[in-house]
Amino acid sequence: MLNTLRKIVQEVNAAKDLKAALGIIVQRVREAMGSQVCSVYLLDPESNRFVLMATEGLNKKAIGKVSMAPNEGLVGLVGTREEPLNLEHASEHPRYRYFAETGEERYASFLGAPIIHHRRVMGVLVVQQKEQRQFDEGEEAFLVTMSAQLSGVIAHAEATGSIRGLGRQGKGIQEAKFIGVPGSPGAAVGTAVVVLPPADLDVVPDKAVDDIAAELELFNAALEGVRSDMRALSAKMATQLRPEERALFDVYLMMLEDAALGNEVVKIIRTGQWAQGALRHVVGEHVNRFELMDDAYLRERASDVKDLGRRLLAYLQQARQQTLVYPDNCILVSEELSPAMLGEVPEGKLVGLISVQGSGNSHVAIFARAMGIPTVMGVVDLPYSKIDGIQLIVDGYHGEVFTNPSELLRKQYAEVVEEERQLAQGLDALRALPCETLDGHRMPLWVNTGLLADVKRAQERGAEGVGLYRTEVPFMIKERFPSEKEQMVIYREQLAAFHPLPVTMRSLDIGGDKALSYFPIKEENPFLGWRGIRVTLDHPEIFLVQTRAMLKASAGLNNLRILLPMISGTQELEEALHLIHRAWGEVRDEGTDVPLPPVGVMIEIPAAVYQVRELARQVDFLSVGSNDLTQYLLAVDRNNPRVADLYDFLHPAVLQALRLVVAGAHAEGKPVSICGEMAGDPACAVLLMAMGFDGLSMNATNLPKVKWLLRQLSLTKAQELLNQVMSIDNPQVIHSTLQLALRNLGLGRMINPASDIQA
Ligand code: PEP
Ligand code: MG
Repeated sequence: MLNTLRKIVQEVNAAKDLKAALGIIVQRVREAMGSQVCSVYLLDPESNRFVLMATEGLNKKAIGKVSMAPNEGLVGLVGTREEPLNLEHASEHPRYRYFAETGEERYASFLGAPIIHHRRVMGVLVVQQKEQRQFDEGEEAFLVTMSAQLSGVIAHAEATGSIRGLGRQGKGIQEAKFIGVPGSPGAAVGTAVVVLPPADLDVVPDKAVDDIAAELELFNAALEGVRSDMRALSAKMATQLRPEERALFDVYLMMLEDAALGNEVVKIIRTGQWAQGALRHVVGEHVNRFELMDDAYLRERASDVKDLGRRLLAYLQQARQQTLVYPDNCILVSEELSPAMLGEVPEGKLVGLISVQGSGNSHVAIFARAMGIPTVMGVVDLPYSKIDGIQLIVDGYHGEVFTNPSELLRKQYAEVVEEERQLAQGLDALRALPCETLDGHRMPLWVNTGLLADVKRAQERGAEGVGLYRTEVPFMIKERFPSEKEQMVIYREQLAAFHPLPVTMRSLDIGGDKALSYFPIKEENPFLGWRGIRVTLDHPEIFLVQTRAMLKASAGLNNLRILLPMISGTQELEEALHLIHRAWGEVRDEGTDVPLPPVGVMIEIPAAVYQVRELARQVDFLSVGSNDLTQYLLAVDRNNPRVADLYDFLHPAVLQALRLVVAGAHAEGKPVSICGEMAGDPACAVLLMAMGFDGLSMNATNLPKVKWLLRQLSLTKAQELLNQVMSIDNPQVIHSTLQLALRNLGLGRMINPASDIQA
């Protein structure tokens, strides 16, 4: 059964549009279940009726004509109850309705399963049988499983249709809305540029080209490139492989020479498709064909074709990389955005970002906030490979994306963009003013840095120090570990830029969703795996080189503080402190006279919350990493869009943990700040100040907003609000209480300028 399911889903996935997908579904399910009829009804959101969209067994003329309201017929019943319905005598059921157009009276039994995607009923999958018999449990389970698997495929095909004008009623191009999660606040109106991870065939978009001859030339050059690579590889391996193993290279060469693959690609290019799209299409078809074969050896050939496809694609992309044009108001779209992709766009052109994967606390979203670029993450249903070049709206406040937006919607969002700009301009005036509450409480505001651009922005916005310098950023944009000297230069730049203000440098925090291309870590559960201090304690050479570079860089400036990430207990802390002392001794032995800098620990693992006093005793300061602390306390992967709505800084458990940390640190006489994204959320900042945090560190973009809000309040008022919030057990109620309180104080406008748009 599993095999049949897999085959059907694969075939449906490869269908060219929604109509073809539904056609395959009804045909294959009918065959697999040995029933006389299989039909799909989809819920049309406009008319709110279940419309017959495909059938095998009923009269095909009824397609598109027969429909029923949710309170009509058996199909309506399955849809509204959101449960399967299995009837031996369908016509005896009170909800049975007869449609003459379908020739339905001949079928006695009925089995229907709802098609549900992200809690939304999309339609109903039905099989019918002439014989009067109840479908058995196995058949019911098969249909339910089938419809669960198909819901995503149908949603995807439907969305693609609406974007490219192939919608279910052939309505042409329409505005469509896709829901993701907020990544970075703000709105943007612009043109999509789909960027691809290197050589990933599955995500290559379709793209029409005018210059067909140029595409053919590119493709021929790519073929030639791969051919010569294969010959070179084969020759290189001559001494290491047996002749029969080397035969694989000959197979590859044959496939390339083979009239089939090369010629098929050329044929598609001639229709006006670019070479990469044509290659994806042809390789996809071959791979599908091989994967559906029952013979294991032939199935394996699918991976050869894929590999060849990737090699050809790498050549095509290399050629294109040099010619990629970024339009003005460019909105970058990718399956999984990486910080490196952001860097490629020429300055001033990038207005928005969309990532199909990832969530609001993925590191790329953190960078986007630091750069002040509206971003939506986790838009899992967006058929991104089809949207290159079309108009988009990014709503980073609500986590929504609009494709082909109407003139009216574009105008509304353009107004929001303008309002944001004016707001930011107004806040510039705050730069030289202290962050002081109405009753005179001083709240130091620091910045988080990592990108080069952060330094300038931080200085422009009046930061009082760096609370978190993510040292992994310069590591991520290199192709190998930077040497001690290279690191020293980078760190010196950072320390000098802020001198005499303190700069808190965190030791290398890789793992989780921060990968180094040259130091890959493959794990089932990367966030519970080899991350942060765990990696660097296992590789003291990396830790020592980095610490030495920091210490040397601070010579004469003396504004360095060192911060240790992912500490889960005193043992790790002691080992790290030991290495820091060792590096300090070495640096001084080499003749650089620097004082031992203050050392701090990040509190970002629940275990550290409960050992906060023991940890605080051994260090000079603490800093809470609320991004990770929230994910570990709530057991919600910060990177997973499916559970993004469960990730909440204002969950009562998180608030209580933060209070424990502040109390523990202060009981040991040590200062405690917070450098997670929570500190940069103006409403959260009010609560954190009231809790007694000694410093808030955030991205430079949000710093003026936080400063503005804290200057409008008294500490007493903030404490009152905190007391009120701490007595609430429900995160949603905490959010609304906080928003209402700030709105009543006349401080609502800092929270969400796009709140009036109804789309
Ligand atoms: C945190 O976890 O809150 C933090 C500041 O570190 P990062 O986001 O880099 O993991
Ligand atoms: Mg962290």
